[in-house]
Amino acid sequence: MSKINLKSLSKDKMKEFVKAQGLPAYRAKQLIHWIYEKKAESIDRITELSKEAREKFSDAAYISNINLLSRQASKDGTEKFLFALEDGESIESVLIPDKDRLTLCISSQAGCTMGCGFCLTGKIGFRRNLKAYEIVDQIITVMKVKGAELKVKSSANPITNIVFMGMGEPLLNLDEVAEALKRITEFMGISKRRITLSTSGIAPKIIELYKKAPHINLAISLNAADNKTRDLIMPINKKYPIEALLNACRKIPLSPGSSITFEYVMLDGINDRPSDAQNLVRILRGIPSKVNLIPLNPYEGSKLKRPSDKKVFAFQKVLINAGINAFIRKSKGQDILAACGQLKAGYK
Ligand code: SAH
Ligand code: SF4
Repeated sequence: MSKINLKSLSKDKMKEFVKAQGLPAYRAKQLIHWIYEKKAESIDRITELSKEAREKFSDAAYISNINLLSRQASKDGTEKFLFALEDGESIESVLIPDKDRLTLCISSQAGCTMGCGFCLTGKIGFRRNLKAYEIVDQIITVMKVKGAELKVKSSANPITNIVFMGMGEPLLNLDEVAEALKRITEFMGISKRRITLSTSGIAPKIIELYKKAPHINLAISLNAADNKTRDLIMPINKKYPIEALLNACRKIPLSPGSSITFEYVMLDGINDRPSDAQNLVRILRGIPSKVNLIPLNPYEGSKLKRPSDKKVFAFQKVLINAGINAFIRKSKGQDILAACGQLKAGYK
């Protein structure tokens, strides 16, 4: 009989597993604590269990770990982690320090099907969906490596925020992403307020996400304020045009005081005119929103360009004058291809 990977088990399945081993139910909680908080890499490390219990568990199960292949540091402090998965696929995560925050940007898929014109991940094409444990393992591994460097206790958490903004479209892997969110919040104790999921706009799945994981922060990669322009840069817009996307946003039960973040990658001569900013103001009316303007992070082989700072500031001013919170996002980690849309995990 093949062994069970304990990281592949949900809370209920963990209980079933423990029961099948003829052990009391509290053992499930203990295993979860050791795997997700104390970050035990193998059953052998669970020293709270007797040697016999560890041996008995090891006959039936094991703990998998994604393999950290390499780590690169940018001159601005951003770090990129390249991981190999069990079947040889690879993914990247990015750790971004900023004032009192340490944000980990994680991947939900190897590659991406969406083919957005400005994104290098989109150029790889789709490899596969990640399992919930592969999503969570990015956090566990980086916490462990970084925690050791910062000399915090093995159970302490140096990471303050998690963003699903790495490789892949999280809402096309919603079941595994929702299970990962459960583990991140329930098993690892990270507050939903500190988690943001970014989507290119799979409208019906946005509602489903809120049913499965209420109260997490949502970011929408809008990137254009009219369908003609959005069709040009984001193929998904043909299926779920701006109206459908924003209608889904209007249906989300936001908690008081919270808002939806709209990301707007700025592309020279494509979506950066003052009239685009005015359109953006118009279409966001009635939605509690915040806009993040991200001047394009260029990569080799792309014909797209980032607009001048002057154009970016002028665009921002239109939004601010209309009462919208609009920020220009500094792109970190560009020198190591770790900024938004630059992740390719070694794929050609
Ligand atoms: N697939 C999801 C999450 C990952 S992309 C999504 O599209 O939302 C994370 C963010 O990076 C998105 O807002 C996307 O619009 C932005 N992005 C992609 N390529 C970029 C690039 N070359 N320069 C700047 N931002 C980019
Ligand atoms: Fe995929 Fe997001 Fe890149 Fe589009 S921007 S190709 S959805 S990762």
